Amino acid sequence: MKIICIGRNYADHAKEMNAPLPEAPVFFLKPDTALLPAGTPFYIPDFTNDLHYECELVVKIKKVGKNIPEKFAAEYYDQIGLGIDFTARDLQGKAKEKGLPWEIGKSFDNSAPLGGFLPKESLDLSNLTFTLKKNGAIVQVGHTGDMIFTIDRLISYVSRFITLKTGDLLFTGTPAGVGPVAIGDHLEGSIGEEKLLDLQIK
Ligand code: MG
Repeated sequence: MKIICIGRNYADHAKEMNAPLPEAPVFFLKPDTALLPAGTPFYIPDFTNDLHYECELVVKIKKVGKNIPEKFAAEYYDQIGLGIDFTARDLQGKAKEKGLPWEIGKSFDNSAPLGGFLPKESLDLSNLTFTLKKNGAIVQVGHTGDMIFTIDRLISYVSRFITLKTGDLLFTGTPAGVGPVAIGDHLEGSIGEEKLLDLQIK
């Protein structure tokens, strides 16, 4: 399986990163070794001094697809969950400055902790709110209505370039409010009232 991540899909986050709004979705990949299963603690790696959380809605792909038309994209996923796109902001910043790829700051082992998933049918995807708490205080609130590109549009776009396979994960971008984590922090993520992600930082 592979993990496809969308960058800059919320205008307020693009603004806080001083990045222009994209005309087409921006995506990058994380390898399968980036996956950190739900319930597993995250250990801050020694190569960064500025590790940031980015809480994102995660779409689980349920069948193989290539060149998927947007109007059929909903047939290709059945579960929506929450994950963290951990980012070594210092390493990403250096790569950006030089015009280099971001993988060094985005795609390292365990950089994609997952929470639980909910069946798509139980959710109104056009009106979904998700929140991230750090040590009990809300730090990020996302709403699907604020996405620049909808989930269906993202699936259609990415599948023009990369074949989607069963079990692949699509991280759909983070809203504003990203920030650093330190040893001892506790992250909790919810979709609506349903708590799906609980992560201890060690
Ligand atoms: Mg992200």
